Amino acid sequence: MPDSSRALDPKKFLDPLITADGQQRAVVALTHLTTLWFNTGSLCNITCVNCYMDSSPRNDALAYISLAEMRAYLDEIADAQMQVEEIAFTGGEPFMNPDIIPMIGEALSRGYKVLVLTNAMKPLLNKRDKLLVLKHTHGDALSIRVSVDHYTRQGHEEIRGKDTWPPMLEGLRWLAGNGFNMAVAGRTCWDEGEEAGRAGYARLFANENIPVDAADRARLVLFPEMDTDADVPEITVHCWDILGIQPESMMCASSRMVVKRKGADKPVVMPCTLLPYDEAFELGNALGDSNKAVQLNHPHCAKFCVLGGASCSPD
Ligand code: SF4
Repeated sequence: MPDSSRALDPKKFLDPLITADGQQRAVVALTHLTTLWFNTGSLCNITCVNCYMDSSPRNDALAYISLAEMRAYLDEIADAQMQVEEIAFTGGEPFMNPDIIPMIGEALSRGYKVLVLTNAMKPLLNKRDKLLVLKHTHGDALSIRVSVDHYTRQGHEEIRGKDTWPPMLEGLRWLAGNGFNMAVAGRTCWDEGEEAGRAGYARLFANENIPVDAADRARLVLFPEMDTDADVPEITVHCWDILGIQPESMMCASSRMVVKRKGADKPVVMPCTLLPYDEAFELGNALGDSNKAVQLNHPHCAKFCVLGGASCSPD
């Protein structure tokens, strides 16, 4: 389990194949590309505490991806007859990307399910009319997941910043009132357990007429608060058996994410949404190049994915 009392050991996560104590590092093969993510750009209208993307109104390290760049990947999927089911968008704040509406429309028109992660604030509210057109044309194939970091205004604004609650609530109410297929992403913060968290969100949804079942883990996704600087064990090939976890259950077994670095000629494919910046994880420019096993050589692999609060130490 992550040890927040100690900083990350600098000898860890160096060799992609071998851990600091000489064991074979775990790898995850791509079993079936189900979801292709597009990072729309790292700019966001707000700055959250502990954003693993470091998104903010100033961080443009990841540029806005364009409709033409996105189309090239959808064409590649079609040409290679890949069985991709879902196109998903994350940021930054996706609704800040000037091409977001045509990109969503393009994916829906090609028959994919589409998921958009958003803070549901002004950038989304500014596009209400166009979103309604997409909703009326494509119905529940379009799904919007709103980040609500706590079910109280105080908790939400502690993470997202002052006065972020009212516009988020306006967006949430608007999506609900117009019958969008919606979900919420929350956090379990301040040592609050999952049960208490779900009960709190259930009260918020009931008070606000938000049609999200807080007991449904697909509709209310709760992410644990993670200290990204804390020490964490490296993941070896033995961890799967010790923990009873299948490598196929990792996001990088069924997903890829396209990012466009500032100043780069072309977008590049990454294994997952969690590692947009680490160039050691780049898998090539084309999806066809990205069918490679991923070495779990990053603390996020342990903290967010494999361990998630467990331990793979045999003792
Ligand atoms: S953080 Fe590591 S283990 Fe998790 S999905 Fe990404 S590459 Fe896979």
